[in-house]
Amino acid sequence: MSRIDEIISALQAVSADPGKAVEKHREATGKGAVGIMPVYSPEEMVHAAGYLPVGMWGGRKTISRARAHLPPFTCSIMQSVMELELEGAYDMLDGVVFSVPCDTLKCMSQKWKGKAPSVVFTQPQNRKIAAAVPFLAEEYTLLKKRLEAMLGVTISGAALENSINVYNENRRIMREFCDLACAYPQVINPVKRHAVIKARFFMEKSRHSALVRELIAEINKQPAKPWNGRKVVLTGIMAEPDSLLEILEQNGFAVAADDLAQESRQFRTDVPDGPDPLTRLARQWQDFDGCSLAVDPLKPRGRMLVDTARKYGADAVIICMMKFCDPEEWDYPIYLPQLEKAGIRNIIIEIDQEAASFEQVKTRIQTLGEILG
Ligand code: SF4
Repeated sequence: MSRIDEIISALQAVSADPGKAVEKHREATGKGAVGIMPVYSPEEMVHAAGYLPVGMWGGRKTISRARAHLPPFTCSIMQSVMELELEGAYDMLDGVVFSVPCDTLKCMSQKWKGKAPSVVFTQPQNRKIAAAVPFLAEEYTLLKKRLEAMLGVTISGAALENSINVYNENRRIMREFCDLACAYPQVINPVKRHAVIKARFFMEKSRHSALVRELIAEINKQPAKPWNGRKVVLTGIMAEPDSLLEILEQNGFAVAADDLAQESRQFRTDVPDGPDPLTRLARQWQDFDGCSLAVDPLKPRGRMLVDTARKYGADAVIICMMKFCDPEEWDYPIYLPQLEKAGIRNIIIEIDQEAASFEQVKTRIQTLGEILG
């Protein structure tokens, strides 16, 4: 097995079994873990507390018990998270952090009944005005106090600065990896690309950075070959499960870039420099753009998607619409005409974590392949 394959399978093992990854981390470091509800939280604070921040993105599940706790039109990801919660999958966590940028997350934060205690904070939706930064810095001050009380630790300013540096470095490396995945689609197929990115939710970030850095160095040793297939940009909350990404590969598509909340939106905006770490973290939320959950009256997502498709030579944009996700559904009629006006081909597919069959997705992707020729 090549070193590239070894690193990718290690990262695939982590993303395929988060529970095991958390247990291994606990055994190796003696440190606990804190769940981070999707989508944007100052994970650096948990890292600075010495705990492992763990992304809670649901998983492929048949929903049964969750239906008694959530309305049937709750988004697929939160139905899955609730089902996992009721199964006790999150009982190993020492706490859970909730950001509440959508109505479903507000509802989930109030319905949280897992064994792990939860802390909730609010991001300002009017993000671009000056008052947004001190407001959020104050929310983060309260969140830090609650985390310290919940975990019985003190989070020092120096530890927080260090964690911000660790996270910014991981963001930089992930951007480099995504660019390389676009240049080497024969080496990094859509499933592998996703696994490398997803593993960062279940690993201490400097460990993840070290592995991805080594992966980048190994890939760079190889000559880039011409790609005879097509390339797409994925946009939405997430593009799972692997069977969906396999359909892309089977039809000759590579992922040129993504605009997914679970992937590039997590690392495309660094925490900026500044004297106070909590204010720096708050400014990142103001700087962040192009996500349905980060309200911006100027609606830059369509323009950003067009720019991304052109920059990476993508043939089309695939809109991965999370089932019953209101924020993503509201954005769609705004950015769709911008894609059409720019002549960017696109299709929409539904992401449902309960789905067992992907025949409709397969047909759509096959059709896209035929249209592109
Ligand atoms: S943003 Fe969408 S997918 Fe995420 S929790 Fe809210 S409704 Fe669900």
